[in-house]
Amino acid sequence: MALTITDLSKTYPNGVRALKNVSLNVGSGMFGLLGPNGAGKSSLMRTVATLQDADAGTIQLDGIDVLKDKDEVRKVLGYLPQEFGVYPKMSAIDMLTHLAVLKGVTGAGERKAMVEALLQQTNLWDVRKKALSTYSGGMKQRFGIAQALLANPRLIIVDEPTAGLDPAERNRFLNLLSSIGRDVTVILSTHIVDDVLELCPRMAIIAQGEVLLEGSPNDCLTTLQGQIWSHVVSGEEELRTIEAELEVVSSHLVAGQHEVRVFSPTNPGAGFNSVPTELEDVYFLTVARHAVN
Ligand code: ADP
Repeated sequence: MALTITDLSKTYPNGVRALKNVSLNVGSGMFGLLGPNGAGKSSLMRTVATLQDADAGTIQLDGIDVLKDKDEVRKVLGYLPQEFGVYPKMSAIDMLTHLAVLKGVTGAGERKAMVEALLQQTNLWDVRKKALSTYSGGMKQRFGIAQALLANPRLIIVDEPTAGLDPAERNRFLNLLSSIGRDVTVILSTHIVDDVLELCPRMAIIAQGEVLLEGSPNDCLTTLQGQIWSHVVSGEEELRTIEAELEVVSSHLVAGQHEVRVFSPTNPGAGFNSVPTELEDVYFLTVARHAVN
């Protein structure tokens, strides 16, 4: 499915401009929407998911006008919100069956087959009779995907799904996402660069309600190729000098020492090594440069 967002704007009643003329083209497959907290990702996802209105702009999903034909969108949509709400004492299998009824899967045989297949796919079969309230974070997110996949959606939106998962749970969850069919459009909203790197052939960086960069992760990397330099600093004083004189992209502690990465078209000086650009460099630099403008 092709999703075309054009000039979408939203200001909340408290005056926060959450979306400013957002335009995006999202084709089939996985699309990564990367941005820091407060960037406007959830506002955008909720609007596409027909849960809130925009002040201006349009959203087209193939032939559907998303902001007007909400029922048509809901028929093809699977949504995993950032906050999935309460996890009841109900078991996964009963809850999925209940949600399948709400989604309009009326045939009992079809419903049973669908629910069972999803429980297998999300690796929840063995715990299908346990209360959802007893599930771990990772199990809850996999249940969230199971409910989003009910009734074969063609557009799936997952909002910050890996936040709070431990590395093994996150891995399992990303593998599950990558197994969703390629002809389905999946929008993955996240502030975690590696989520996008591992899964998404197309991506956009969003901050302060604006789309700052759009393309493949590779396109994004080539914009900075050969211009990222790394240096292990001797102490706080040198770190402060570098921060004052150069465009610092990030600074990490590695075995107790600060390793700084800077942007510079030419060699910034002794002790700096040219290093391959990482998507995190592109993300940090794009967001930081926008913040100072
Ligand atoms: P993200 O998902 O990228 O963290 P959000 O879309 O949740 O970003 O938020 C964008 C901005 O809009 C933030 O400044 C946030 O505080 C504000 N915001 C979000 N929802 C509401 C709301 N219902 N009312 C007022 N402000 C909101």
